Amino acid sequence: MDSCDSVDTPMEDRLKLDEDPLGILVDQTHFCSMVGSLMYLTASRPDFIFPVCMCARYQASPTKKHLEALKRDTRRSTSGSAHFLEDKLVSWSSKKQKSTAISTTEAEYIAMSRCCTQILWMRSQLSDYGFAFNKIPLWVWDLNGEGNFCVKDARDLLDEVFLPKENVVTRWIKSIPIKINVFAWKLHLDRIPTRINLDRRGVQVPSILCPVCNDAHEDTSHLFFSCVVATDIARLICRWWNLTWIPVGSYSDWLAWFNSIRLGSKIKGVLEGVFYVTWWSLWNFRNQLLFANQNPRKDVLFDEVVTRSFSWSLARSKNMFSWDSWLQHPYLIAL
Ligand SMILES: [Zn+2]
Repeated sequence: MDSCDSVDTPMEDRLKLDEDPLGILVDQTHFCSMVGSLMYLTASRPDFIFPVCMCARYQASPTKKHLEALKRDTRRSTSGSAHFLEDKLVSWSSKKQKSTAISTTEAEYIAMSRCCTQILWMRSQLSDYGFAFNKIPLWVWDLNGEGNFCVKDARDLLDEVFLPKENVVTRWIKSIPIKINVFAWKLHLDRIPTRINLDRRGVQVPSILCPVCNDAHEDTSHLFFSCVVATDIARLICRWWNLTWIPVGSYSDWLAWFNSIRLGSKIKGVLEGVFYVTWWSLWNFRNQLLFANQNPRKDVLFDEVVTRSFSWSLARSKNMFSWDSWLQHPYLIAL
């Protein structure tokens, strides 16, 4: 499987393989062992069953074409989870994820968030009937030797084991949802499919200019930090949080500026969350501009950032705070 990367398209949905009588024959033992390994994978990856079985038909005289088909896979991951009430399995799911994850780690994050959503829903349903479940063993994944799972251990594990080459410590903001954290993390690593990034990977794009201003190449630094929409929002956030705005041209500029801000660590986390929500909102804005029928409104972007970050931060905070104090002096909120 060494040359897997050479295949750059995912498998077609309606794959048609034939016997290929005139094709170049390949090593049958090698082919069969690949089919065998993939068959083993189908136990946990049901989306593999169709392509693998399709290829398995030609084990008798495999050709180059069959081998190439075998090396492809469907790129979208499948999330699976099983939910137990006491010792009874009450619900389960196995669903293809809507988006293509960039790494298996990201696919795991998506699967994890799905599973948590389902469990929280079950908990709220049960509480309607008077059953309180406050301690839910979500994972039997003991990373700290104490017999419980916590996100920090998972993050440490990701940093130390899975991401040694990135040389980037993941930043994790508790006040906002997982999907926004994952998005900010991808932005940090420059893995957002901006036009420049797509172009670099050989994807045909109609233009490499920023669709918002048409004035510069659309890369991460431009879209999220120096484009006029981004700087407008950053200015408003600074006014709202009583900070001095300075122009930043990239993520690392932003980080240096952010690190220089003097605020308590908890409230600073909330402010960082506000920026993550801003980037996520900018990305949605840009996507709507490109793909939706109606043009998104620029003038409500900042309001959306304020409202979204308010409801997310409030829902995840131990203390209550009012909408008024969020609007007027968010930096004074006791968390
Ligand atoms: Zn722009």
